[in-house]
Amino acid sequence: MTVQALINAAIRPEIRALTAYKVADATGFIKLDAMENPYVWPDELKAEWLKVVHDAEINRYPDPEAKSLCRTLKEYNQIPATSDLILGNGSDEIIQLLLMALPADATVMAPEPSFVMYKQIAQCLGLNYQGLPLLADSFELDISATLTAIKEQQPAIIFLAYPNNPTGNLFDSEAIAQIIEQSNGLVIIDEAYAPFTDFSFIAKLTEYNNLLVMRTVSKLGLAGLRLGFIAGNPSIINELNKARLPYNINILTQCSAEFALAHPDMFAEQTATICTERARMFLQLSVLKGISPSQSAANFILFRTPANKATDIFNALKSKNILIKNLSPQQGLLSDCLRVTIGKPEENNAFIKALKETLQALQ
Ligand SMILES: *Cc1c(COP(=O)(O)O)cnc(C)c1O
Repeated sequence: MTVQALINAAIRPEIRALTAYKVADATGFIKLDAMENPYVWPDELKAEWLKVVHDAEINRYPDPEAKSLCRTLKEYNQIPATSDLILGNGSDEIIQLLLMALPADATVMAPEPSFVMYKQIAQCLGLNYQGLPLLADSFELDISATLTAIKEQQPAIIFLAYPNNPTGNLFDSEAIAQIIEQSNGLVIIDEAYAPFTDFSFIAKLTEYNNLLVMRTVSKLGLAGLRLGFIAGNPSIINELNKARLPYNINILTQCSAEFALAHPDMFAEQTATICTERARMFLQLSVLKGISPSQSAANFILFRTPANKATDIFNALKSKNILIKNLSPQQGLLSDCLRVTIGKPEENNAFIKALKETLQALQ
């Protein structure tokens, strides 16, 4: 048998049609592409953490339900007592879990542009995916078109990133409430960027059966651990738990996350610094000729560049050792757009300086 024949026999056509999620090699770069927290821990804290890791029984399976970590996350995130949690190997795994549990003919909806994994995983599983175009200038939900689409297509699940990635804005909360109220399916509010905004739907969990709120520790400063969770009605969480692999949160993640979350002041200080830098970066970008940044409630800024120049600017920054994200190839509302993650002040300064030089050279 040829390899192609094997692939045809063993791999579904919708998977063959996809391209794998690619991550740029960032070795040696000022890394402002992936919404990571740029700060590392002080040495004393690392030493304390290593003691915790030292005592982890890695010969044993971890707690399959990660009960202690669930309690910590519930408290840290002020989840209502009447809601339950399910943990995932990153919130990516939770998106996969939610979509795996859907009926085969279900429709999945998400705004476009938004986080690419909603569509990627839906297509991988052969589900019906429907994008909801955002409004051109504000990146706001087109609420009347969205409500019509919901009524006509009855999606089993809708994902709303709040704040949205890659645009950075918070959708109108009234519009989201209408979507929750008029949906007969689940509405997932993805709060991956919760550390950088005061707005949240967590307090609304007690109001709606069909609302689930998903968060991750990745953007907070623990991307390497791979840990996310979703909170919602205990009966719904109970069903999802049946589709979850038993030991999906490894022991090193369980003990390290518990240790890290016992230091909320450190994270609060780091995220506050990132928010201050976000405001400074926004101002610096907005005075650059040809650049228009979007307001952001997250730890990144999307900005529009002069027509047909985004890829040149991206490559010029790369040659100056600065890695950001080029979104222009995604076309549509993202044509001519680049996204920069907020880094340390000196990294942000290096980015602004390199961008200025690049824009001057373009003229
Ligand atoms: C980064 C991101 C995630 C993925 O988070 P992980 O927990 O690292 O898998 C999910 N949703 C949105 C909107 C994101 O930007």
